Amino acid sequence: MPKSATPTHCPYCALQCGMNLTVGPDAGVEVAERADFPVNRGALCAKGRTAPALLTSRLRLTSPLVRKGGKLEPAGWDEALDRIAGALDGARHKHGPDACAVFGGGGLTNEKAYALGKFARVVLGTSQIDYNGRFCMSSAAAAGTAAFGLDRGLPFPLEDVARTGCVILVGSNPAETMPPALRYFTELRENGGTLIVVDPRRTRTAEQADLHLAPRPGTDLALALGLLHLVVAEGRTDEAYIRERTTGWEEARAAAMAHWPEYVERVTGVPVPQLREAVRLFCAPESAMVLTARGPEQQAKGTDTVGAWINLCLATGRAGRPLSGYGCLTGQGNGQGGREHGQKADQLPGYRKLTDPAARRHVAEVWGVDPDSLPGPGRSAYELLDALGTDIRTLLVMGSNPVVSAPRAAHVEERLRALDFLAVCDVVLSETAELADVVLPVTQWAEETGTTTNLEGRVLLRRQAVAPPEGVRSDLEVLHELAARLGVEKGFPADPEEVFEELRRASAGGPADYSGITYRRLAEENGVFWPCPAPERPVGAATGDSTGTGARTGGSGFSAKGTPAEVHPGTPRMFLDRFATEDGRARFVPVSHRPSAEEPDEEYPLLLTTGRVLAQYQSGAQTRRVDELNAAAPGPFVELHPRLAARLGAAEGDPVAVVSRRGRATAPARISAGIRPDTVFMPFHWPGAGRANTVTNPALDPTSRMPEFKVCAVRVEPVDRDQPGAEVAVRA
Ligand code: SF4
Repeated sequence: MPKSATPTHCPYCALQCGMNLTVGPDAGVEVAERADFPVNRGALCAKGRTAPALLTSRLRLTSPLVRKGGKLEPAGWDEALDRIAGALDGARHKHGPDACAVFGGGGLTNEKAYALGKFARVVLGTSQIDYNGRFCMSSAAAAGTAAFGLDRGLPFPLEDVARTGCVILVGSNPAETMPPALRYFTELRENGGTLIVVDPRRTRTAEQADLHLAPRPGTDLALALGLLHLVVAEGRTDEAYIRERTTGWEEARAAAMAHWPEYVERVTGVPVPQLREAVRLFCAPESAMVLTARGPEQQAKGTDTVGAWINLCLATGRAGRPLSGYGCLTGQGNGQGGREHGQKADQLPGYRKLTDPAARRHVAEVWGVDPDSLPGPGRSAYELLDALGTDIRTLLVMGSNPVVSAPRAAHVEERLRALDFLAVCDVVLSETAELADVVLPVTQWAEETGTTTNLEGRVLLRRQAVAPPEGVRSDLEVLHELAARLGVEKGFPADPEEVFEELRRASAGGPADYSGITYRRLAEENGVFWPCPAPERPVGAATGDSTGTGARTGGSGFSAKGTPAEVHPGTPRMFLDRFATEDGRARFVPVSHRPSAEEPDEEYPLLLTTGRVLAQYQSGAQTRRVDELNAAAPGPFVELHPRLAARLGAAEGDPVAVVSRRGRATAPARISAGIRPDTVFMPFHWPGAGRANTVTNPALDPTSRMPEFKVCAVRVEPVDRDQPGAEVAVRA
């Protein structure tokens, strides 16, 4: 590593790839390989490689903007902050604290997520806070908590994937979403293991699989139940494991036995021989895993769907054992940490429940407030957005672009316009910021220090490598200034390490215990897995987990040996001895297949599923402003099967409209034999005419409140190129 290089992490996805940043003589920032970080081992995708482009982009905001005479005009910081504080203060006095809402993001550092949750509950006194991470992980979190008593995306390091016997990868396309992670699946196969991919499309990841199952969108639940039925019917259950380490098997077994393979074939479209082959591959080796991502999770039955895959793991003894388990591949950069420290509507820092009196007492003591002053749980993300302009009059958005990323996006845009006041903190003028009354320009990854928690539960230190441009302040400074203007002078430091020190205390003893983690440890140890209780707490006391270190599992590379007794080594592997439930056993949850919220009919005979492409990230607010990425992925498209294209008379590149009950999105046709003929696919990174989320369904999962992004009924229509509104590609 050159002397001047700063080791840090990518600003984008949950892999949080390590990288070195160097500043050249012309102040340009260059990305270099950082081979010492074990997760990506130096590899980066195009998004990570080009991330510095946004630091100096001409589209970067460097001055606050205040709406005057209907237009956003540059303004001073004091004027902008005064406007926001005045609007929040006015709304809470006129309508009560819940008239103020806060919407955060899964890309915010742990420190920002923590400070934002505290700001909402202590300064504003509002219950109305949630974040876009709800759209990312909530179904997996709900199902994981129900089964294991605790949710951590992966309860083991990614390196275990390469050494297990079989992986079923459900609704995930790491070849495009997090390419450096693909090597673990390649190594799995090189080591003699097998990969089964479940996806309605033959993605680049599915192409590498030993077996590709392509179910109809919205039927992964039936598929998992069908596999469990076969496991039972073929006598492949692990009875000793079920007896000793689980509860609730009989009910779950009975529910699965109602899903006969032939019925499952009819529902999913996956032939029975493929179901049998999947069971054979999954059950043959000593160890195996199921990993889910947004495919099964972003459904109105996402929690049950993930629960069904967990049941399959439990029935075969593939959870809480070395190289075996269920895991969720979290999407956003700090999707994991963002859900642990208080910006979620129902949570307090340390993954504590807002409804738990002991949790309220603990956190209130750290915050120096009366526990009774803390509001209760508020609305989930979509419900909050849906209520804008009704009882919610004022909104502060930090690190999110719901105009593009929320379901039924045209409606969400309308609700944002109905607010009395909207403030947005962002690095660029996102589509949501364009609607704001005040926009604050804030620092980004390489310009600030903070921690994130990657998809493995590994807490990481992102270090500042460059000074921010003049005129830009950090989100923590913004919260400090707003709190002071709203009468809270103390408790909102702008220094991230000071915030982290408080977060450590607030999380102590909670499920996600960070109290034993310090910035110094993070710098020296290249990340620490939570739970990691502080020295004064007995090791392993945080959650009742197994604290499964390498010493226990035999050569994982994570050994507690040599670690001073008073320092907790962190928890790379969880649940090896017991699960985090009261009795230490995992819980089967009986689930049954049910139709999607919207099934095809005569008017809308097809299914739309949405996702990401390699060169863009989430709402595209950042990546659409990077020339190299825009050149690689300049706009949306509609992927459709050749038979469907022929029926429509559409050739490659012809504009087509995808129409649902909520609206229409127009984009060029991309014809592929790799997609089911009854399904169309759109990436969701773009605004305007090609905005996929104009079409998606906000039907919510009853437990996780996850919207049904992944399946809705649509029809596809050819569009005359000369027709108004036929624009097919939208650039930033
Ligand atoms: Fe960044 Fe994710 Fe790409 Fe790694 S895989 S470089 S974390 S976007």
